[in-house]
Amino acid sequence: MTDAQDYIGGNWVEVTSRRQVRNPARQQEVLGTIGLSGESEVNAAVEAAAEAFRGWKKLGMVARGNLLFQAAAVLDAHVDELAEVATREMGKPWGESRGEALRAVAILRYYAGEGYRPVGDVIPAASAQALQYTVREPLGAVAVITPWNFPLAIPVWKMAPALIYGNTVVVKPAEWSSLTAARIFELIAPIFPPGVVNLVLGLGTDAGEALIQHPQIQAISFTGSTTVGARIAETATRRNIKYQTEMGGKNPVIVAADANLDLAVEAVVSGAMRSAGQKCTATSRVIVLEAVHQAFRDKLAARVRALKQGDPLDPDTFLGPVVSASQHQKIMDYIAVGAREGAELIVGGDLADTALKDGFYIPPTLFDRVSETATIAQEEIFGPVVGITPVATIDAAIAAANRVRYGLSASVFTQNLQTALTFVEEIEAGMVRVNDETAGVELQAPFGGVKASSSHSREQGRAAMEFYTHVKTVAIKP
Ligand code: NAD
Repeated sequence: MTDAQDYIGGNWVEVTSRRQVRNPARQQEVLGTIGLSGESEVNAAVEAAAEAFRGWKKLGMVARGNLLFQAAAVLDAHVDELAEVATREMGKPWGESRGEALRAVAILRYYAGEGYRPVGDVIPAASAQALQYTVREPLGAVAVITPWNFPLAIPVWKMAPALIYGNTVVVKPAEWSSLTAARIFELIAPIFPPGVVNLVLGLGTDAGEALIQHPQIQAISFTGSTTVGARIAETATRRNIKYQTEMGGKNPVIVAADANLDLAVEAVVSGAMRSAGQKCTATSRVIVLEAVHQAFRDKLAARVRALKQGDPLDPDTFLGPVVSASQHQKIMDYIAVGAREGAELIVGGDLADTALKDGFYIPPTLFDRVSETATIAQEEIFGPVVGITPVATIDAAIAAANRVRYGLSASVFTQNLQTALTFVEEIEAGMVRVNDETAGVELQAPFGGVKASSSHSREQGRAAMEFYTHVKTVAIKP
């Protein structure tokens, strides 16, 4: 049992109002409790971050980078344990959680190294004697609001760039991943001066709302649903502070007539079913050329049927539970809507294994002949559900792929360079792949979407510097 607390100004702060956390794989197993912070905890955390900002900024990038290297080393020594905490709390198979923990370590190392790289430009001035250049200045106290589906990687991929460029942070993790966030803080927070990193646990409508409204918050980095993202954009715009919102997806894979079908099947299984489909970059639509439709459908159905579902701590498990009762209900409702609107349910739908009834399990589910305009082809399901839509031509496939409000990631499977290049040019998505799955963008590359998927800023890699800094232009005449 863990009783997770807030971390404010270098101290653990007990919050009396609390909520129980249970294992989504076995509802009778209580894992611990989390504090439900309110305005007073949020105010204290933001004030601590604002007070620590000046000193942290003045420390300089190299020194800050060295502290991030220390944080990476500490997390690296606890990778297996962190994976277990995350898996127990949100249900992702242990192997995937371990991969995520390693990614968090790699992210910290990447941004620690950033402390040694040049920032800013020297720009020619009209007067030959003058020196004109730019520097990158941190923003101040930044709010970091994260979802539950990458409980280890996302808080770190926002905190690390914020910190290296000189900002201080207040992190508000999702209610369903707060034990994991608290464990990350237990491990790395003591490395930083008091107030530089702060954690407030609680509900989005309560702690989250108080955080985004706080006048001393200078920027908001958010990942989560499109609805909450819109609210954050509105609030930040009113206050004229920077914001970035990474939101939903409805990511297509196009299978061309000349595709390597085995490769495409493996990529769809991995993209659609890992993490039980709870990735913003998960594959949720497969648009297949009619010439290979039957062959592809048969191969994919056989693979999906063979996936092992079970305890996410069991190393043989491919698919664990989804995170919560409400997500479970939402996904089951989408499966019912899919069948009602006329799609052909070929695998899954109902949970056959009664031994799993105690957790929030959804069987891997495959629909065929999903119309382009069907609800399950349009709305983000965020579960282990994928639909096949057969089309006659590549042009029709790309048009179908684009006919959604989202634009996060997309893939094509083809052996024809022209088809690949046409797809890359025409597809409306922020992250585009050829002969690879829709999920899994590397940490040193920009991450983000277009349309309703993102506020068009980018995370990860050097792109993060654009968000976490202001440019100051300096001209000096001797
Ligand atoms: P959510 O929007 O419900 O919650 C995300 C975070 O926002 C949580 O910490 C929550 O407490 C907080 N929040 C809720 N209401 C708030 C408010 N009024 N003010 C401030 N904060 C508030 O999302 P979720 O259910 O945790 O995550 C699932 C969603 O996240 C999916 O839609 C998924 O596509 C998206 N997601 C996107 C990406 C991406 O990079 N594009 C990555 C992962 C998840």
